[in-house]
Parts: sequence; structure tokens; C-alpha cells
Amino acid sequence: MKYHIVTVSGDGIGPDIIDEAKKVLHALGQRFGHSFSFTEKDAGGIAIDRHGCPLPKDTVDAARAADAVLLGAVGGPKWDHLGGDRRPEKALLGLRGELNLFANLRPAVLFPQLKEACPLRPEIIGSTLDILIVRELTSGIYFGARGRNAEDKSAYDTLYYNEEEIERVLRVGFNAARLRGSRVTVVDKANILETSRLWREVTARVAKFYTDVEYSHMYVDNCAMQLIKNPHQFDVIVTTNMFGDILSDEASMLTGSIGMLASASLGGSSFGMYEPIHGSAPDIAGKDLANPIATVLSAAMMLKYSFALDEEARAVEDAVNKALDSGYRTADIYSEGCKRVGTREMGRLIADAI
Ligand code: NAD
Repeated sequence: MKYHIVTVSGDGIGPDIIDEAKKVLHALGQRFGHSFSFTEKDAGGIAIDRHGCPLPKDTVDAARAADAVLLGAVGGPKWDHLGGDRRPEKALLGLRGELNLFANLRPAVLFPQLKEACPLRPEIIGSTLDILIVRELTSGIYFGARGRNAEDKSAYDTLYYNEEEIERVLRVGFNAARLRGSRVTVVDKANILETSRLWREVTARVAKFYTDVEYSHMYVDNCAMQLIKNPHQFDVIVTTNMFGDILSDEASMLTGSIGMLASASLGGSSFGMYEPIHGSAPDIAGKDLANPIATVLSAAMMLKYSFALDEEARAVEDAVNKALDSGYRTADIYSEGCKRVGTREMGRLIADAI
């Protein structure tokens, strides 16, 4: 089969890690007889430099016409002085919103080979971990009205959700739970926020369609603590845009490094956008130091969710396992006795294992 992928490498380490994911997909195409073609499009800081805006229409149009989008990361100190709509991050929100990708799946999976890289005590983390965080992606405080008021020198951001937005992401979470441990934790701040109380009402309604799935609610502050105290209590976490953003960064450290966490952003169809959860890491950009595994695993999610190539997705995961089994580590997941490799070498090792 032929698949057309739009790549948005973006800024910082974006180009470094997207190159390695392409390498891996190329090897996979050779093994399984698929053809993956790539078109690179600008977004983020590079688009500001080249086109004067963070998300050119051409990028959105190309993304819409593709089978899937693979994104690196955007942003960096060069563009930090820009305000509001001119910031690189606007490209991410724009792409997610324009493409209506309302559910962001973030699996926090600890590869057993990396348990040394997890900062929790061995008796807490055990030898593996598998949590799925489902983050609402196109509403909430990141999308609500915001602004400044010069008169009283104030600023505001609006947290807004309607029932439909809540229900559709909850259904993604409950459906995912059915294929895993059948447990959903809906994370909110219902003791304070009205939107959270609406989330609870909608959850009760949705849960009636999923009597085989056990569900509970948890306050976000407690969840942040429980992830460290007893991460194994969680199966699927469903939460709002901002809470999901923060909790998944926290969960990433349970897996050893933020360089290990992949994500899939999905709407109502097979089309999706796939990206590592980390940022553009300007401190290590272009130095052959970035861990490409989160991006490679994001490509594996693309194979599974957008192309229904489950066996091929497993082949990518197996190849990552093989590289780790052989003791190869990028700097962020390095521990004593392992073989330290750079971004390109890790990509090559995974591609070779395929
Ligand atoms: P970051 O995720 O870029 O970096 C945080 C830390 O993790 C840094 O020390 C970095 O070196 C390290 N790190 C990140 N990815 C890594 C990888 N693959 N391998 C090894 N180490 C890795 O977060 P930040 O420093 O807060 O943000 C930097 C820039 O990225 C900012 O401009 C921010 O707005 C942007 N950002 C973009 C996205 C995105 O594009 N999805 C997400 C978050 C932040």
C-alpha cells in the first residue's frame, strides 16, 4: 500500500528526530512492501522566519490532504519575545483545532530495560508500567477567550467546555479502556471548577454505555501525587487539555525520560497527527543528543491508528525493544554499563532491527 505523510519537523530537535522516524518507516516499507512518501511543511518558528506566520495555510491544506501528519516540535528562545497569535505554539493549537483532532492519546509505557532510568524506587515502579492518558485537545483553557485589560492591568484566560466536547473525548477513553484494563479515572478539579462538575455529569451519562468499564473521579492535585505514590493504580486517565498536558509530562518521567513518550491526536476518522510529547529542546538541538524513540513510537501509533497496520506497528515496537535489549541508550536514558549512542545511531539501530 501507498501512504502519504506530511512531516512538520518544526524547530529545535524537530528535524533531528523526524529524520530518524523517516529512516525507520523506510526500513519498515522495505520489509513489508509498503511505500511511505513524505512532504515536509513548515510550522512554528521556522514558518515565522520563512512566511511571517506560525501556521501557513499551505501547511494546513497539505495536512488535510495527507493520510497522516508526523510532527516534531515547535518553539524556541528565538521567538519567545513574540506575543499572542504570533508565537510558534500557535501552530500546534492551530493544527489541532483546524484538523479537529480532539483526543490526544499519550501512552506512558516503561520499557523494562529502562527501569534504572525511572527516578522512583524499584519497589514502587516495579519492572514495567502501562498507563494511557487521554487528553482533550481542542477546547478548555488553551482555546478559550484570552486577553489583557490595560485599564486595570489584568489578563485573563477562559476555561470553557460544552457537553459534546466532553462526551466525545470520554468515549475515546472508555473505548480504549475496553481494550486494556477496563478502568477509567476521570481527572478534574470539581471541588472548584464548574467545568469539572459538568465533566462529572457527562461522565455519569457516558458510563451507562460502558457497564463493563469501571470508572472513578480524582482531583488533579491528588492525581499528580498518586502518579508518584502508586502509578500502577491507573489504567486509563481521561482529562482536560491543560491537566492532560501537565500530568503526561509528569508521567513521562515514570518511563525514564520525556524522550520516550509518543502521542496520537485523533478526531472522528482514521486521520491523525502523531508527535512526541516533548518540546523542541533548544538546549540539545542539532547536537545529535536527542532521543528519537518518542517520535519513532509516535510513527508506530500512526501505523496502528491511521493505517490499521497493527503488525507493522508491533515490528517498530519490537525494534525499539531490540535496540534497548542490546544496551544502546541515548544520553537521557543512559545508565551505567550501557552503550551511549547519539540520535542518528539510535535511529539506525532501530531501522536495522526492522
Ligand atoms: P522540552 O520538552 O523541549 O525540554 C525539556 C527538557 O527535556 C530539556 O532539558 C530537553 O533537553 C529535554 N528533552 C526534551 N525532549 C528530549 C528528547 N527527545 N531527548 C532528550 N532530551 C529531551 O520543554 P521546554 O524546555 O519547556 O520547551 C522548549 C521549547 O519547546 C519551548 O519553546 C516550548 O514552547 C516548546 N514546546 C513545544 C512543544 C511541542 O512542539 N509539542 C511541547 C512543549 C514545549
